[in-house]
Amino acid sequence: MHSFHYCDGRLFCEDVDVTVAAERFGTPLYLYSASTILDHYQRLDDALSSLDHSICYAVKANTNRAILRLLRDAGAGFDIVSGGELFRVINAGADPAKCTFAGVGKSHQEIEYALEQGVYSFNIESEAELDYINEIASAKNQRAPIALRVNPDVEAQTHQYISTGKSENKFGIALEWAAKVYERASKMPAISIRGVQMHIGSQITEAAPFVAAIEKIAPLVSELKIKYAIEFFSIGGGLGIAYESSIASGSGDWWTSQRSHPLTIQQYVDAILPPLTRLGLRILLEPGRLLVGNAGILLTRVRYIKETAQKKFVIIDAGMNDLIRPALYGSYHEIVPVEKITEPSPQSSPSGRGGREAAGEGKTNKIDVVGPVCESGDFFAQDREMPELRAGDLLAVMSAGAYGFVMASNYNSRPLPAEALVRGDKVALIRKRQTLAELTRDEVDASF
Ligand SMILES: *Cc1c(COP(=O)(O)O)cnc(C)c1O
Repeated sequence: MHSFHYCDGRLFCEDVDVTVAAERFGTPLYLYSASTILDHYQRLDDALSSLDHSICYAVKANTNRAILRLLRDAGAGFDIVSGGELFRVINAGADPAKCTFAGVGKSHQEIEYALEQGVYSFNIESEAELDYINEIASAKNQRAPIALRVNPDVEAQTHQYISTGKSENKFGIALEWAAKVYERASKMPAISIRGVQMHIGSQITEAAPFVAAIEKIAPLVSELKIKYAIEFFSIGGGLGIAYESSIASGSGDWWTSQRSHPLTIQQYVDAILPPLTRLGLRILLEPGRLLVGNAGILLTRVRYIKETAQKKFVIIDAGMNDLIRPALYGSYHEIVPVEKITEPSPQSSPSGRGGREAAGEGKTNKIDVVGPVCESGDFFAQDREMPELRAGDLLAVMSAGAYGFVMASNYNSRPLPAEALVRGDKVALIRKRQTLAELTRDEVDASF
């Protein structure tokens, strides 16, 4: 299911007219669909029903408490990458015993905190970290449950910034060293070996890299099962989503259409199930983007239209500080008018049903959609064919639910945007827009 659709030329999120949400909470506004998130979770959970499995939502994709609660209530565990994320998950009422703790640079404070809270597993990324955790746990008279993150050295075929399973990446321990490191770990007094972990990257749109990585690590997993009676194998997250045609194909067959979903959940599970079933272990998955990416949009209003000799710029009220993906990764986001812009026809009135009429000939033109931030990298689309837009028009930047708000900053002293959640015909504010006073609240005058 996909819950953004046009009805009478107006964009809806589930049963809520998004214009109403934008007017109530202002723009820029992140708007999420609860049913879409739950539907994605359920589809993955159902597809894996023949396996002993646990889905640990990768919190970093979207950390809003209301979303963590939705997933907690659906039965999810959580994959965290910092003490801050552990704090958020506990704050959302989740059980730390269902949390795995990843990340290459865990601090003393974070390790102590996670030990005290009783996380399910520390996913360890280096021998230095293993030694450090052993020391800290010893001092606390505790045993730290651990898994090594193994780097299988496979090509994930994704953007270089989000590829993590190649030997030149900073993540994990090389497959050929892993058995030795496990042996060392088995002799450490304050370490208890619990599993194996891998995560090869993000926005992966083919099943082959996942299968290749699982098959490469499987012999080690079987060996560890015999030697140390490990409980689990975590295969990480990384399943990609559609960023193109996410609204155009928002019909009933959305999940089975290759256009809207480059790699469907079923195709992914069908591919990984055989090698995983053979292992006879508990399988953990850590999806982030898959669960929340297509479930959110960024609503923004057109401020000005600016034409230069070479270009036409549509300047919107959202900037790279609100959604950095295009600037950081050169990512594509579909951008659609919230009121469908139709060709002028003699019968209909300008304010009639079926969306607003185009000011011009109903033609499209090539434009750049840019934000107000003082950087040339502050763009959402370049040379994109779009309908004739006017100042005041509301636009939806689609598929902004993952790695959107969480990467927002105050650059240019722009307050963080608000977030709202839709469920059925109801919409609730789940994070207030930051105020100007909050921008300077934590600053302290130097008392030299
Ligand atoms: C980021 C991350 C994930 C989630 O990745 P997605 O592409 O959002 O599914 C899972 N596991 C680890 C260890 C991560 O760092």
